[in-house]
Amino acid sequence: MAGIYIHIPFCIKRCDYCDFYKTTNMSFKDEFLKILRKEITLNTQFISAEEINTIYFGGGTPSVLAPDEVKNILDLIFSHVKNIHKITEITFELNPDDATENYLNELKETGVNRLSIGIQSFDPVLLKTLNRRHDAVQALDVVWKARDAGFNNISIDLMYGLPGLSMEIWEQTVEKAIKLNVEHISAYHLTYEPGTVFYKKLQKGIFKEMPEDESLQQFKMMIEKLKKAGYEHYEISNFSLPGKRSVHNSNYWDGKKYIGLGPSAHSFDGKKRWWNVSDINSYLKGEFVENEEVLTGKDRYNELVMLKLRTMGGVQVEELKRVGDEYFNFFSFSVEKHILSGNVKYEDGRYFITEEGIFISDYLISELFYE
Ligand code: SF4
Repeated sequence: MAGIYIHIPFCIKRCDYCDFYKTTNMSFKDEFLKILRKEITLNTQFISAEEINTIYFGGGTPSVLAPDEVKNILDLIFSHVKNIHKITEITFELNPDDATENYLNELKETGVNRLSIGIQSFDPVLLKTLNRRHDAVQALDVVWKARDAGFNNISIDLMYGLPGLSMEIWEQTVEKAIKLNVEHISAYHLTYEPGTVFYKKLQKGIFKEMPEDESLQQFKMMIEKLKKAGYEHYEISNFSLPGKRSVHNSNYWDGKKYIGLGPSAHSFDGKKRWWNVSDINSYLKGEFVENEEVLTGKDRYNELVMLKLRTMGGVQVEELKRVGDEYFNFFSFSVEKHILSGNVKYEDGRYFITEEGIFISDYLISELFYE
């Protein structure tokens, strides 16, 4: 199975924490769509040779596209895939304030069957702090509107560890998310990325990083509440109702192949990674790929550890052995002390991080890297 990721690099307004590649110059949109079609056509070999099972529209803001523009992109892809019936998940990232009734109804007709909605917070003050386009009412309404349009697979994004996010507000946020009864929740801790407004405010002392113990409390409370509400915590930042995991992202974590289209998008064919230019002007000139790297044994081992230990399924002995005995032996030796401390467990041929270990997963994973 393989996936297709399409990066729509437009945002009407920049969120102050975001470092994804985007431009606010919407005048490039028509030309971008033309060049994207060209890029799809150039990749027909991959699209027609692999069993494509997921398509993901990310960004940027895919919901700046009109539904007929989405449909044109999908129809072109569909015309090249080997078996259209294997495509079970087509995800579309949606901004709450783009979600009019008409828009959602028409989007449903394009073939998109999963929404990933960038809600981030239900708190009006925090939404302003983040410089999001939508308000608190739109954050709540969007899910009901999407349901009315017939979407039955909805994911929402939330953020914690934010400046000004008290435990009380975070608790209310998680409770509101549970009441919405969405199939999937992705919850990310804020990171201050260089180049963002948030990073500058941190440097100037306007913002302070949330103390680690407070972040941890917010993380723990969320896990507890979501699990109680029936969500599976299947990856460090991802929760789903049974049977509703993100297939596209699970493919990434499982090391499956994918092709990335659009500026800054990454691709992987099982051995090699390549990535597109993060520059709309170069992209529009047809200069797609910026660089590539062939993964060494060490790279493959480190990726395996990094991606699979983030998932609750963990990493299998067989997968480690496939990279090479040298790496498997290194892992077996290095993981021992973490098993003894109860942070990693070995069961049925796989190693996984335990419920206690999840709170120090970044440290555990870095400890198991092959340097
Ligand atoms: S968070 Fe999303 S909507 Fe906001 S600037 Fe980044 S890509 Fe655009």
